[in-house]
Amino acid sequence: MIQFEQVSKVYSGGQKALLNVNFHLQKGEMAFLTGHSGAGKSTLLKLITVIERATAGKVSINGHDIAKVGVKHVPYLRRNIGMIFQNHHLLMDKSVFDNVALPLVIEGFSHGEIRKRVAAALDMVGLYGKERHIPIMLSGGEQQRVGIARAIVNKPPILLADEPTGNLDPKLSMDILRLFETFNDAGTTVLIATHDLGLIARMKYRTLTLRQGTMLGGEPSGAMTAGG
Ligand code: ADP
Ligand code: ADP
Repeated sequence: MIQFEQVSKVYSGGQKALLNVNFHLQKGEMAFLTGHSGAGKSTLLKLITVIERATAGKVSINGHDIAKVGVKHVPYLRRNIGMIFQNHHLLMDKSVFDNVALPLVIEGFSHGEIRKRVAAALDMVGLYGKERHIPIMLSGGEQQRVGIARAIVNKPPILLADEPTGNLDPKLSMDILRLFETFNDAGTTVLIATHDLGLIARMKYRTLTLRQGTMLGGEPSGAMTAGG
């Protein structure tokens, strides 16, 4: 589903963010992406969402080489990807409903369809009935759930999260990860960037580790098991 082959990223200022990164995330897999601040986690996610382009190597999403995806088709590619941020990027003066509905409004869904889908998404994240609240009335954990509802409302096959638990206490963090797990159980491919090693250790998922732009744990989990 997501494949990196010898991928490097050097920013225009000369900062080397990724170096010869190889990994393959299978359809339906859930994995963590970890490493210290500056290791290249955000850059790797930005290459998947085509916010940045690779300097060298090949990034494929669903078998498509994204270097061959023209600027005009990038929005179509992004519809396959739900993105969750640490600071959730919510519109703080808009209702929960309006925030979650945004991707559907952009895609031109009918009003009735939007209401149905927003209700379903809020139900999934445990915020049913909070449509009319505005984000500042909600707790940090609830705000993060609004961000997650918005990311999954158009049912993307891929879910990416950049430090989704960065501002939450351990209990709320675990709740959020369990939520990702339910999406994964439903078939969504999930990649979660986090430097919270304690959290990762509590869940049995493959972990991809970046160190100064180099991938340490790039092998498929099967190969690692076979190696001992
Ligand atoms: P992480 O998400 O693991 O903290 P990043 O991908 O944000 O790492 O950063 C990797 C490296 O690339 C860092 O050295 C960072 O300063 C640099 N970097 C990130 N974004 C940019 C950018 N837009 N321009 C220049 N350098 C960048
Ligand atoms: P976060 O930790 O939430 O990723 P950062 O402060 O690392 O936030 O980065 C904020 C923005 O600045 C990102 O878009 C990132 O790509 C960019 N950035 C990070 N490092 C650099 C850098 N050295 N030069 C230019 N832009 C950078």
